[in-house]
Amino acid sequence: MKPIKTIVFFGIAVLLVQCSLIAQSLDKRPNIIMIFSDDHALQAISAYGSPHIKTPNIDRIASEGAIFKNTFVTNSICAPSRAVLLTGKYNHINGQYDNRNETKINTGQDMYPKHLQQHGYQTAWIGKWHINNLPQYFDYWKILPGQGLYYNPDFIQMDSSRVRIDGYTTDIITEQAIDWLDKGRDKTKPFSLVIGHKAPHREWQPDTKDLNAFDGKPFAVPDNFFDGYKGRNAAAHQDMEVKNLRWDWDSKVNTQDLPFVKRMTPEQRQAWNQYYDTENAKLDTSRMTSKEIALWKYQRYMHDYMACILSLDRNIGKVLDYLTKKGLDKNTIVMYSSDQGFYLGEHGWYDKRFMYEQSLRAPFVMKYPGVISPKTVIEDMVVNIDFAPTLLDIAGIKAPADMQGKSVLPLTQKTKPVKSWRKSMYYHYYEYPDPHRVLPHLGIRTERYKLILFYGDGSHSWELFDIKNDPDEMHNIYGQPSNRKLTSQLKKELNQLMIQYKDKEGLKILAKAP
Ligand code: CA
Repeated sequence: MKPIKTIVFFGIAVLLVQCSLIAQSLDKRPNIIMIFSDDHALQAISAYGSPHIKTPNIDRIASEGAIFKNTFVTNSICAPSRAVLLTGKYNHINGQYDNRNETKINTGQDMYPKHLQQHGYQTAWIGKWHINNLPQYFDYWKILPGQGLYYNPDFIQMDSSRVRIDGYTTDIITEQAIDWLDKGRDKTKPFSLVIGHKAPHREWQPDTKDLNAFDGKPFAVPDNFFDGYKGRNAAAHQDMEVKNLRWDWDSKVNTQDLPFVKRMTPEQRQAWNQYYDTENAKLDTSRMTSKEIALWKYQRYMHDYMACILSLDRNIGKVLDYLTKKGLDKNTIVMYSSDQGFYLGEHGWYDKRFMYEQSLRAPFVMKYPGVISPKTVIEDMVVNIDFAPTLLDIAGIKAPADMQGKSVLPLTQKTKPVKSWRKSMYYHYYEYPDPHRVLPHLGIRTERYKLILFYGDGSHSWELFDIKNDPDEMHNIYGQPSNRKLTSQLKKELNQLMIQYKDKEGLKILAKAP
């Protein structure tokens, strides 16, 4: 190499290194942590007024930032909701209609992590994933296979190998996430990390250290626990009643031969058996009425579900504490949500799927230091299609035109009220037949009313609720002469939403159901 060329070559090299250092130091875009759990009902979060439990760490995110009081999902079931999170689109567009093994996200479509990656973010997903496609557009991932296990879970790693890690899954997922934050990530880039939790998904297996937390405190029973489903045929048709929970897997009676107990370490098994054997010894079903059995199962269900939440909330606290300790808290947004809500005995149920309030809603709290004022309360209707555009907006990236949601950030700024925000949302559930026998349905929820069309099995039925006067959705007022005008307005608006969101199959179903 000649001297002049050598000087030019080194000059360019020095310039490139300098540019790259400047770029690194100038990238002050915030880090984003989304903690995403599975089946966490608002009724089990104190920031939402839970009568059952205190969740100080989720509440901490809400009090340091914003709580979204009205967040809804487009389809209240696990994999479809996760696909909405990734794509910002309804399931009839993204392809993940249901939870079945053969259902997959349409390949080649936009997902928010793709755009974050392209714009210099490092992207990661750790923990429960629960979509049949493997993660795409994540620089790092380590996921539970399928539903994953509560005790001593296996993880799938990026090289396809599997590793078993002993311990309780909520702790381990948190440890894996903190480990990546500490040692795994590229510290020259902003990051976007999803911490996906298995808890509190069925079969609600608590950490042994939380088993005695509710001793002597029975859980309040919802007023409509013994719902007779009058005027609501689809609600009567389901199979998701607490009274029918399985004695062994769900209610933890005689669990000694179940695979998850056999998988436990001797210490875990001893603590598990000590608690459940002692409690189960007090049970004598021969002296109980069917109502008493239903109520006993309800108490056991609530105990196990809530104990899972104690661990979940404690582990969210560990992440918040880590960020503070490392000085990352000032420039890291923390969001918490779940793939849908859940029934905690309302209508006599566990599970989700229905468009009724408890499973239509999802929790959503978010802290964004310096941008969202502490204790911000947002009443506007947010839908889970809004998550992906919000994540892109935070990073200063324009959402692709085919994403169907909108960034929620403008809602958090009180000085500039948002005038054109949605006043109604569209819902469509598909999975049928399924052991829970929830008929497919679609519907609209406005600020006050909800209109649902159940279809499938060759028939259809409508339900209409006035949520203001009937918040428990016990009185189907569809077909009453005084509601004719309201019904026709809602049908028109439903039709418009379906056109807006391009649900062609749904429109055909609607056209056949006068
Ligand atoms: Ca779920």
